[in-house]
Amino acid sequence: MKHLFSFVFLVMLCAFHNIHAAEEFKTSKGKVLITPINHATMIVEWGGKTIYVDPVGMAVWYKTFPKPDVVLLTHIHGDHYKEAVLKEVVGPKTQLVAPPALAGALSRGLKSKTIAVASGADTEKVGFKLEAVASYNTTPPRKRFHPKGQGNGYVLNLGGKRIYISGDTEGTPEMLDLKNIDVAFLCMNLPYTMDVAAAAKAVKAFKPKVVYPYHSRGQDTAKFKALVGDAAEVRLLNWYK
Ligand code: ZN
Ligand code: ZN
Repeated sequence: MKHLFSFVFLVMLCAFHNIHAAEEFKTSKGKVLITPINHATMIVEWGGKTIYVDPVGMAVWYKTFPKPDVVLLTHIHGDHYKEAVLKEVVGPKTQLVAPPALAGALSRGLKSKTIAVASGADTEKVGFKLEAVASYNTTPPRKRFHPKGQGNGYVLNLGGKRIYISGDTEGTPEMLDLKNIDVAFLCMNLPYTMDVAAAAKAVKAFKPKVVYPYHSRGQDTAKFKALVGDAAEVRLLNWYK
Protein backbone atom coordinates (compact mmCIF):
# COMPACT_ATOMS: atom_id res chain seq x y z
CA MET A 1 0.00 0.00 0.00
CA LYS A 2 2.79 2.32 0.90
CA HIS A 3 4.38 1.65 -2.47
CA LEU A 4 1.07 2.31 -4.21
CA PHE A 5 0.83 5.67 -2.47
CA SER A 6 4.39 6.49 -3.49
CA PHE A 7 3.65 5.52 -7.07
CA VAL A 8 0.44 7.55 -7.23
CA PHE A 9 2.21 10.49 -5.63
CA LEU A 10 5.00 10.27 -8.19
CA VAL A 11 2.54 10.11 -11.08
CA MET A 12 0.71 13.16 -9.70
CA LEU A 13 4.00 14.95 -9.25
CA CYS A 14 4.97 14.27 -12.86
CA ALA A 15 1.58 15.37 -14.11
CA PHE A 16 1.59 18.48 -11.96
CA HIS A 17 5.07 19.48 -12.99
CA ASN A 18 4.51 18.56 -16.61
CA ILE A 19 7.39 16.19 -17.13
CA HIS A 20 7.43 15.87 -20.89
CA ALA A 21 8.24 12.83 -22.95
CA ALA A 22 11.86 12.70 -24.03
CA GLU A 23 12.90 13.41 -27.60
CA GLU A 24 15.13 10.62 -28.81
CA PHE A 25 18.02 10.49 -31.29
CA LYS A 26 20.40 7.72 -32.27
CA THR A 27 24.13 8.16 -31.76
CA SER A 28 27.08 5.84 -32.33
CA LYS A 29 27.00 5.12 -28.59
CA GLY A 30 23.32 4.47 -28.00
CA LYS A 31 20.39 6.80 -27.74
CA VAL A 32 20.43 10.37 -26.58
CA LEU A 33 17.29 11.40 -24.73
CA ILE A 34 16.42 15.06 -24.40
CA THR A 35 13.61 15.97 -22.02
CA PRO A 36 12.24 19.50 -22.19
CA ILE A 37 11.54 20.75 -18.67
CA ASN A 38 10.45 24.36 -19.13
CA HIS A 39 11.32 27.50 -21.12
CA ALA A 40 15.15 27.22 -21.35
CA THR A 41 15.64 24.14 -19.20
CA MET A 42 16.18 20.60 -20.44
CA ILE A 43 17.80 17.34 -19.43
CA VAL A 44 20.03 15.37 -21.79
CA GLU A 45 20.78 11.72 -21.10
CA TRP A 46 23.45 9.90 -23.06
CA GLY A 47 26.11 7.28 -22.50
CA GLY A 48 25.20 6.85 -18.85
CA LYS A 49 25.52 10.57 -18.26
CA THR A 50 22.83 12.98 -17.17
CA ILE A 51 23.28 16.57 -18.26
CA TYR A 52 21.09 19.37 -16.91
CA VAL A 53 20.90 22.54 -18.96
CA ASP A 54 20.08 25.75 -17.10
CA PRO A 55 18.25 24.08 -14.21
CA VAL A 56 15.93 26.62 -12.60
CA GLY A 57 12.41 26.45 -11.25
CA MET A 58 11.82 24.04 -8.42
CA ALA A 59 14.02 21.21 -7.23
CA VAL A 60 10.96 18.94 -7.47
CA TRP A 61 11.08 19.19 -11.27
CA TYR A 62 14.28 17.11 -11.17
CA LYS A 63 13.22 14.49 -8.65
CA THR A 64 12.55 11.80 -11.26
CA PHE A 65 15.98 12.23 -12.88
CA PRO A 66 19.37 11.06 -11.67
CA LYS A 67 21.65 13.65 -10.13
CA PRO A 68 23.46 15.44 -12.93
CA ASP A 69 26.95 14.41 -13.97
CA VAL A 70 27.17 17.73 -15.77
CA VAL A 71 25.28 21.01 -15.46
CA LEU A 72 25.57 23.44 -18.35
CA LEU A 73 24.89 27.06 -17.49
CA THR A 74 24.46 29.57 -20.30
CA HIS A 75 24.37 32.87 -18.41
CA ILE A 76 23.43 34.68 -15.26
CA HIS A 77 19.77 35.61 -15.90
CA GLY A 78 17.19 34.20 -13.52
CA ASP A 79 15.44 32.09 -16.16
CA HIS A 80 18.74 30.21 -16.65
CA TYR A 81 20.56 30.32 -13.35
CA LYS A 82 19.24 30.02 -9.80
CA GLU A 83 21.83 29.41 -7.13
CA ALA A 84 19.29 27.89 -4.73
CA VAL A 85 18.13 25.33 -7.30
CA LEU A 86 21.72 24.47 -8.21
CA LYS A 87 22.53 23.84 -4.56
CA GLU A 88 19.59 21.45 -4.37
CA VAL A 89 20.20 19.52 -7.57
CA VAL A 90 23.98 19.11 -7.74
CA GLY A 91 25.48 15.96 -6.33
CA PRO A 92 28.97 15.31 -4.97
CA LYS A 93 30.28 14.36 -8.43
CA THR A 94 28.49 17.00 -10.50
CA GLN A 95 30.64 19.15 -12.76
CA LEU A 96 29.30 22.53 -13.78
CA VAL A 97 30.26 24.37 -16.92
CA ALA A 98 29.71 28.10 -17.16
CA PRO A 99 30.99 31.11 -19.06
CA PRO A 100 33.71 32.88 -17.05
CA ALA A 101 31.41 35.81 -16.19
CA LEU A 102 28.98 33.44 -14.46
CA ALA A 103 31.62 31.10 -13.02
CA GLY A 104 33.07 34.08 -11.19
CA ALA A 105 29.70 34.91 -9.64
CA LEU A 106 28.99 31.45 -8.19
CA SER A 107 29.24 30.79 -4.49
CA ARG A 108 32.43 29.13 -3.31
CA GLY A 109 30.93 25.64 -3.02
CA LEU A 110 29.65 25.69 -6.58
CA LYS A 111 32.67 27.47 -7.98
CA SER A 112 34.93 24.61 -6.90
CA LYS A 113 32.87 22.27 -9.11
CA THR A 114 32.84 24.59 -12.12
CA ILE A 115 34.85 24.58 -15.32
CA ALA A 116 34.82 28.04 -16.86
CA VAL A 117 34.73 27.82 -20.64
CA ALA A 118 34.84 30.99 -22.69
CA SER A 119 32.86 31.15 -25.89
CA GLY A 120 34.93 29.94 -28.82
CA ALA A 121 36.72 27.42 -26.57
CA ASP A 122 35.92 23.79 -25.87
CA THR A 123 36.53 21.17 -23.20
CA GLU A 124 36.52 17.39 -22.96
CA LYS A 125 36.71 17.36 -19.16
CA VAL A 126 33.01 16.52 -18.98
CA GLY A 127 33.43 13.18 -20.78
CA PHE A 128 32.48 14.41 -24.25
CA LYS A 129 33.57 17.28 -26.45
CA LEU A 130 31.70 20.39 -25.45
CA GLU A 131 32.06 23.57 -27.48
CA ALA A 132 31.05 26.95 -26.11
CA VAL A 133 29.46 29.26 -28.68
CA ALA A 134 29.10 33.00 -28.12
CA SER A 135 25.54 34.09 -27.32
CA TYR A 136 24.69 37.79 -27.36
CA ASN A 137 22.45 40.45 -28.86
CA THR A 138 23.48 42.14 -32.07
CA THR A 139 20.62 44.64 -32.43
CA PRO A 140 21.74 47.93 -30.80
CA PRO A 141 18.71 48.56 -28.53
CA ARG A 142 18.92 44.95 -27.28
CA LYS A 143 22.66 44.74 -26.65
CA ARG A 144 22.14 45.64 -22.99
CA PHE A 145 20.20 42.40 -22.44
CA HIS A 146 23.01 40.07 -23.47
CA PRO A 147 26.29 41.89 -24.02
CA LYS A 148 28.91 39.99 -26.00
CA GLY A 149 31.28 38.03 -23.79
CA GLN A 150 28.81 37.24 -21.00
CA GLY A 151 26.98 34.14 -22.17
CA ASN A 152 27.50 30.78 -23.84
CA GLY A 153 25.52 28.55 -26.08
CA TYR A 154 26.86 25.01 -26.31
CA VAL A 155 27.46 22.31 -28.89
CA LEU A 156 27.44 18.85 -27.33
CA ASN A 157 29.24 16.20 -29.39
CA LEU A 158 27.57 12.96 -28.34
CA GLY A 159 28.49 9.81 -30.24
CA GLY A 160 28.77 11.60 -33.57
CA LYS A 161 25.68 13.76 -33.07
CA ARG A 162 26.10 17.50 -32.66
CA ILE A 163 23.48 19.14 -30.49
CA TYR A 164 23.38 22.93 -30.28
CA ILE A 165 21.68 24.75 -27.43
CA SER A 166 21.65 28.45 -28.24
CA GLY A 167 21.30 30.22 -24.90
CA ASP A 168 19.96 33.76 -25.20
CA THR A 169 21.19 35.19 -28.45
CA GLU A 170 20.41 36.58 -31.84
CA GLY A 171 21.74 35.15 -35.08
CA THR A 172 25.38 36.00 -34.40
CA PRO A 173 28.17 35.32 -36.91
CA GLU A 174 29.27 32.54 -34.55
CA MET A 175 25.85 30.86 -34.80
CA LEU A 176 25.62 31.28 -38.54
CA ASP A 177 29.06 29.71 -38.87
CA LEU A 178 28.10 26.49 -37.06
CA LYS A 179 28.64 23.34 -39.09
CA ASN A 180 27.02 19.92 -39.12
CA ILE A 181 24.43 20.55 -36.43
CA ASP A 182 22.06 17.60 -36.13
CA VAL A 183 19.76 19.05 -33.49
CA ALA A 184 19.36 22.70 -32.50
CA PHE A 185 17.45 24.31 -29.64
CA LEU A 186 16.94 27.88 -30.74
CA CYS A 187 15.72 30.75 -28.58
CA MET A 188 13.18 33.23 -29.93
CA ASN A 189 11.43 35.92 -27.96
CA LEU A 190 11.28 39.68 -27.93
CA PRO A 191 12.68 41.92 -26.68
CA TYR A 192 15.38 39.70 -25.18
CA THR A 193 16.56 37.52 -28.05
CA MET A 194 15.20 37.55 -31.62
CA ASP A 195 11.87 37.30 -33.39
CA VAL A 196 10.71 34.19 -35.23
CA ALA A 197 11.65 35.67 -38.63
CA ALA A 198 15.24 36.31 -37.51
CA ALA A 199 15.39 32.82 -35.99
CA ALA A 200 14.16 31.28 -39.25
CA LYS A 201 16.73 33.30 -41.20
CA ALA A 202 19.48 31.95 -38.92
CA VAL A 203 18.27 28.38 -39.46
CA LYS A 204 18.50 28.85 -43.21
CA ALA A 205 22.13 29.93 -42.76
CA PHE A 206 23.50 27.22 -40.45
CA LYS A 207 21.10 24.49 -41.52
CA PRO A 208 20.56 22.23 -38.53
CA LYS A 209 18.82 19.00 -39.50
CA VAL A 210 16.23 19.29 -36.71
CA VAL A 211 15.37 22.47 -34.83
CA TYR A 212 13.29 23.00 -31.71
CA PRO A 213 12.14 26.47 -30.76
CA TYR A 214 12.69 26.97 -27.02
CA HIS A 215 12.84 30.05 -24.80
CA SER A 216 9.83 31.05 -26.91
CA ARG A 217 7.04 32.01 -24.53
CA GLY A 218 4.21 33.73 -26.38
CA GLN A 219 5.91 33.54 -29.78
CA ASP A 220 4.31 32.39 -33.00
CA THR A 221 6.38 29.24 -33.41
CA ALA A 222 4.00 27.97 -36.11
CA LYS A 223 5.04 31.00 -38.15
CA PHE A 224 8.67 30.11 -37.45
CA LYS A 225 8.03 26.62 -38.78
CA ALA A 226 6.36 28.01 -41.90
CA LEU A 227 9.24 30.44 -42.51
CA VAL A 228 11.85 27.70 -42.12
CA GLY A 229 9.96 25.62 -44.69
CA ASP A 230 12.02 22.67 -45.83
CA ALA A 231 15.36 24.17 -44.73
CA ALA A 232 15.14 22.09 -41.53
CA GLU A 233 12.73 19.82 -39.72
CA VAL A 234 11.03 22.02 -37.12
CA ARG A 235 9.62 20.23 -34.07
CA LEU A 236 7.29 22.22 -31.86
CA LEU A 237 7.07 21.18 -28.23
CA ASN A 238 4.94 22.71 -25.53
CA TRP A 239 7.49 24.11 -23.09
CA TYR A 240 4.83 26.03 -21.14
CA LYS A 241 2.09 23.60 -20.20
ZN1 ZN B 1 19.07 36.08 -20.74
ZN1 ZN C 1 16.49 33.84 -21.02
